Amino acid sequence: MLSARPVERQAHSPDGGGRGSPVGDPGRPPTAYILAAVSGRPNLEAGTPDVTGPFDVAVIGGGLVGLSTAYRLLEMRPGTRVAVVEKEDRVALHQSGRNSGVVHAGVYYRPGSWRALLCREGRAALESFAGRHGIPLARPGKLIVAVEEAELPALAELHRRGLRNGLTGLREVGPEEMRALEPDVTGIRALHVPETAVVDFGAVAGALVREVEHRGGELLLGREVRAIQRGRIGRILLTEAGDVGARVVVACAGLQSDRVAMMTGARGPLRIVPFRGRYYRRRPGVGWDVRGLVYPVPDRRFPFLGVHFTRRRDDIWVGPNAVLAWGREAYVGSPLTLRDLADTLLYPGFHRLVGRHLRVAARELMRDRSAALFAGACRRYLPAVEAADLLPGPSGIRAQAVDARGRLVEDFVLQETEGVIHVRNAPSPAATAGLAIGRVLAERAILQLGP
Ligand SMILES: Cc1cc2nc3c(=O)[nH]c(=O)nc-3n(C[C@H](O)[C@H](O)[C@H](O)COP(=O)(O)OP(=O)(O)OC[C@H]3O[C@@H](n4cnc5c(N)ncnc54)[C@H](O)[C@@H]3O)c2cc1C
Repeated sequence: MLSARPVERQAHSPDGGGRGSPVGDPGRPPTAYILAAVSGRPNLEAGTPDVTGPFDVAVIGGGLVGLSTAYRLLEMRPGTRVAVVEKEDRVALHQSGRNSGVVHAGVYYRPGSWRALLCREGRAALESFAGRHGIPLARPGKLIVAVEEAELPALAELHRRGLRNGLTGLREVGPEEMRALEPDVTGIRALHVPETAVVDFGAVAGALVREVEHRGGELLLGREVRAIQRGRIGRILLTEAGDVGARVVVACAGLQSDRVAMMTGARGPLRIVPFRGRYYRRRPGVGWDVRGLVYPVPDRRFPFLGVHFTRRRDDIWVGPNAVLAWGREAYVGSPLTLRDLADTLLYPGFHRLVGRHLRVAARELMRDRSAALFAGACRRYLPAVEAADLLPGPSGIRAQAVDARGRLVEDFVLQETEGVIHVRNAPSPAATAGLAIGRVLAERAILQLGP
């Protein structure tokens, strides 16, 4: 059993503006714990017939964050032996392939936070990556719509944040201009964000795989990491399909990230609580339309952006909502997973979270059960929407870290131990920011590898 003892903690949190804030120095992780790990188990050694490798770096997780990390590593240090170890038989099966497909411009995030910095860097990198790989990326822009006076201060705050985050072309518009931009939308004032774009993140993941393989990286699919042991040099990832040895491990395990962190003894204070989001698709031929993206003014107590309308290439999606998922990978129609549910329900942080957001949680649950209630919420922005206009669409589950006090952690969180770097929280806009998060992780891994 690996045990871990915190010997040093860099006491800074960009969101909380703590001492030694790394703002302006995105090469450092936001939260780094240096842990001393002591192994009490016999070691398997890399280089033995049962162990694939040894690799310089093994990345756990073939989502956008893991694939971007592998790509950045091979780009920054060609010749590095890199493997991506993924439990499914294909990449991007979870969050990275089940999201809204929005390339966020960066209007929402606290200036100076990792989300603000890496969203901006990641968006620019993604636009150029998509261009180089012939992946269509459309920029229909977004309207964030206030429907009542009480929302105007929050709308103005978003405007200020957007400007501080370096967005261009942002402006507030009144009802007339709003109608010119989105004829079917109603509201009293809106913030127009012209830089918001849409892309197929599944296609981005596919292009990342090709890049990684072309540069000599290996993709090891169908290998669920069940345990991580210390080897003579580095770590051994234990999987039922054979073990994998690596000098440095970067864990980008999304919905399983807290469990993978525990495998190295890095317990930490964060637990993943899975929030499911359901989408509806607009029925063809209905009498309303959106030209771009239409979002509500977000509820600042909640990190999710609220039900929105997204114009995709050939479709319009409405959603996602946010309800507790019955399992970390229990999408709509999947059975509940007892272990996952028990983990959530027994976590004291979850009780505190529910206590704090009981009303919102109840409302979301009711809307999840009733298309009529869901359509009612949509009518605040598009009065013509009827329940019959909404066809069932896909669903996705967000990996949201919750701390022991029941607070939803908003910013990206990395946790670094000797030879292992964990991504502990990579919520939206981590698909947009993937290439930037990957850049940070690759730099940390290269530092760990040494010259
Ligand atoms: C409904 C929804 C809508 C969203 N909308 C947007 C959006 O419009 N724009 C945006 O920027 N972001 C959006 N996001 C957020 C974004 O999708 C995620 O932040 C991002 O995809 C996270 O990527 P990841 O690689 O960390 O995680 P994932 O994509 O979940 O990948 C983690 C991978 O790790 C693998 N894994 C887990 N455990 C193990 C193990 N033990 N061994 C081996 N492999 C393992 C999993 O199988 C998985 O493939 C949305 C998310 C959701 C759920």
